[in-house]
Amino acid sequence: MESPPPPAEDCCVKVALHIRPLLGDEKLQACKDCVSVVPNKPQVQLGTHSFTFDHVYGSTGTPSSSMFEDCVAPLVDGLFQGYNATVLAYGQTGSGKTYTMGSGCKDGSNKLPVPVTSFFIEILKEEVRDLLDPNSSNKSDTANGQTGKVNIPGKPPIQIRETSNGVITLAGSTECSVQSLKEMADCLEHGSLSRATGSTNMNNQSSRSHAIFTITVEQIRKPNTGDANLNETMGDEYLCAKLHLVDLAGSERAKRTGSDGMRFKEGVHINKGLLALGNVISALGDEKKRKEGAHVPYRDSKLTRLLQDSLGGNRRTVMIGEWDPLSSEMLKLRQPMRVLGNNV
Ligand code: ADP
Ligand code: MG
Repeated sequence: MESPPPPAEDCCVKVALHIRPLLGDEKLQACKDCVSVVPNKPQVQLGTHSFTFDHVYGSTGTPSSSMFEDCVAPLVDGLFQGYNATVLAYGQTGSGKTYTMGSGCKDGSNKLPVPVTSFFIEILKEEVRDLLDPNSSNKSDTANGQTGKVNIPGKPPIQIRETSNGVITLAGSTECSVQSLKEMADCLEHGSLSRATGSTNMNNQSSRSHAIFTITVEQIRKPNTGDANLNETMGDEYLCAKLHLVDLAGSERAKRTGSDGMRFKEGVHINKGLLALGNVISALGDEKKRKEGAHVPYRDSKLTRLLQDSLGGNRRTVMIGEWDPLSSEMLKLRQPMRVLGNNV
């Protein structure tokens, strides 16, 4: 079902920059942040350049604890009102994408207001893999140089499908029914352990896949028009919405990670997903083209196809640019984010 339109003041894509804190080793080596946050502004200064975002978190900016409240909580509220939404973490390997995407529901035992379902998949080399499949083996796939969950041979691959009313579904993925935040955290942790990782020169836990954790809320409820008689005549309403939390593959170039052969091929596919995402968001962000009904190239990658009903239009998107405080390559982060977020 199509989500209802959000309030007019809502911009559909917000872009935040999150600077990860210096880690233990980095502090021991007396490393210094390469970037300074402009006081009281969502702006960072790097050399003589300044860059503005919707929000800046971490380092000396707003504490990252408010990132969830500012960026994600409104999307969660919207989810229960029937709005689809997407949170994307973008940045180079080691910048904190997985940490940020996994820290939202750490250890709360709170019961959810309505039961929700989750699936957790990853897209590696343009193939969708089920991270919650209880039947797939957890053996190392040494032939491919990968550790993590290996899909059972002969099991049909997961298919991305579109229903006649434009809802994107995943055929063949494991759906997990979740009643509390604790169960959701368990689900996230279980899937994360299964995530394929492989070593590159840059980081031996480098994630070369896009991981997508999706929360779906289905509700049947009484309409709330403010008019009791009207509510009665209208009957129950059905609301269904989903929130995707997307931990994108590392944004570094294949070249820089010393990738070759097999890994290089993955690099090409990773770029395909990120490139397609950039093209989709840039097409959605161009109001003139949108009004002319220009083509949005969702079908160019599995990632964009899967997110098709949750990006653009009346759906809310938050792009969190994760930044390694030792990196001085802001332009490398900013350029694709400008395309992705279109307002950086
Ligand atoms: P990525 O997924 O972008 O490759 P990770 O999320 O794995 O990066 O983070 C890299 C390292 O930094 C990990 O050891 C992680 O625990 C640490 N880290 C990342 N973000 C934070 C944070 N906000 N606070 C503390 N440690 C962090
Ligand atoms: Mg990661």
